[in-house]
Amino acid sequence: MKILKFGGTSVGSVENLLKVKEILASDQEQKIVVCSAMSGVTDQLVRLVENIKFGDAEAITRNLHRLESKHSDVIDVLIEDVEVRNLLKDGLSSMITEMFDISSQEYSEVINSRIITFGETLLTYIFSGFLNANGLSNVLLDAKEFMYVDSVENPNIENVRKKLNDVLNATVQSSIYITQGFVCRDEHGQISHLKRGGSDYTSTIIGAALNASEVQIWTDIDGLHNNDPRYVENTQPIAHLTYNEAAELAYFGAKILHPQTVSPVVGMDIPVLLKNTFDPEAQGTVISNKTYKKGLKAISAKDGITAIKIKSNRMLMAHGYLRRIFEVFDNFNTSIDMITTSEIAISLTIDDTSNLDKIVKEIENYAEITVEQDHSIICIVGESVINDKNSYRLFEILNYIPVRMVSYGGSNNNISILVDTKDKIPTLKFLNEKLFHTPEVVIV
Ligand code: ADP
Ligand code: ASP
Ligand code: MG
Repeated sequence: MKILKFGGTSVGSVENLLKVKEILASDQEQKIVVCSAMSGVTDQLVRLVENIKFGDAEAITRNLHRLESKHSDVIDVLIEDVEVRNLLKDGLSSMITEMFDISSQEYSEVINSRIITFGETLLTYIFSGFLNANGLSNVLLDAKEFMYVDSVENPNIENVRKKLNDVLNATVQSSIYITQGFVCRDEHGQISHLKRGGSDYTSTIIGAALNASEVQIWTDIDGLHNNDPRYVENTQPIAHLTYNEAAELAYFGAKILHPQTVSPVVGMDIPVLLKNTFDPEAQGTVISNKTYKKGLKAISAKDGITAIKIKSNRMLMAHGYLRRIFEVFDNFNTSIDMITTSEIAISLTIDDTSNLDKIVKEIENYAEITVEQDHSIICIVGESVINDKNSYRLFEILNYIPVRMVSYGGSNNNISILVDTKDKIPTLKFLNEKLFHTPEVVIV
């Protein structure tokens, strides 16, 4: 069994859906196909939730009509058979009616999740119907019946395995199953989601649950590149990455992968392939536990970082001081990304500021604390990158850009620097030139 995941752009138009059909038809192995919503749809649903919050009935109606006509247009162009077309349109309008009903209820987290996961429900329904009418017989699985993810950070794969096997045993056998990415149920059985970009994570959770032979993530680019192609020209795809490298890059901002994508399959030896829907022959990236090449591989950037400096003269020789500080962050469920210390001060970074006020209030009792927002962590990644004889060059950045923090040696595979977000793009460009386009130093 293989798992194939198709992202928003891949399923974002009739033309692209036809490309996905070709990819599915070219491989006979039994598969589960995980689909995202059409590109732009989840953003639209997030706006719909805002309308619900404000009780803006007019905007809700406008929004839902736009959603219906977008999907209805796809059915019109995609489906030739009139009967199938009408059937799918009836199904679509029942779903829109259901969305109207949900939208009239009072806002809550569950209403939010029910609405924002509807894009996947709409798209998989149409795509499954289209494939069935066009020679690719498949079974549509409702992810809400098996994606029981008690903790998004640490899902109980065994639970998903059991539920998914029950669902598979209860349906007719098929060589293609289609299901929705992103949606899940939480520990109370309520509809929830795996955070934005979460369909990647759905595919590896299913891959781990079924011990799949591989997970393929199909997107709009030919694999993971050595720098962020949205900001830097001349980036190159990387043929092989280890799970560690991919996890670091995803966690530290490489948008091509949801931050937790690789965690379910690490240790299971299930390769994750990143492939381009628009150039299926391109090699792409294989993520596995094999190290083909050590040293520098790629650079990524994570925005929305808050730097916190905690200063106290009492730190001088005071054991237990760091524990006390970390306890505060722990008590407020806030994880720390980077840390540097001096004798009397500690600087650290967080990305979740929802409890920041409380943390500051607590620490102010015994230390001076300053908070700086709008920073970015720039991460230089590769197995054993600190031993790469060229990695010293990254420190030339100090000549050009004010660097707020440096983290070196925390792991052999990651060097991180913290800069003001306004300096992110120049930093990425500079590092690209220095690390990937300047001839290697030969030490004799
Ligand atoms: P999908 O909708 O298929 O999930 P995403 O938009 O989430 O696709 O991810 C693909 C995009 O990630 C690419 O189009 C690219 O702009 C962006 N991206 C950011 N960093 C990288 C990187 N290091 N390598 C490849 N793509 C990246
Ligand atoms: N549709 C969801 C999002 O836009 C999930 C995904 O695409 O992976 O975040
Ligand atoms: Mg994505």
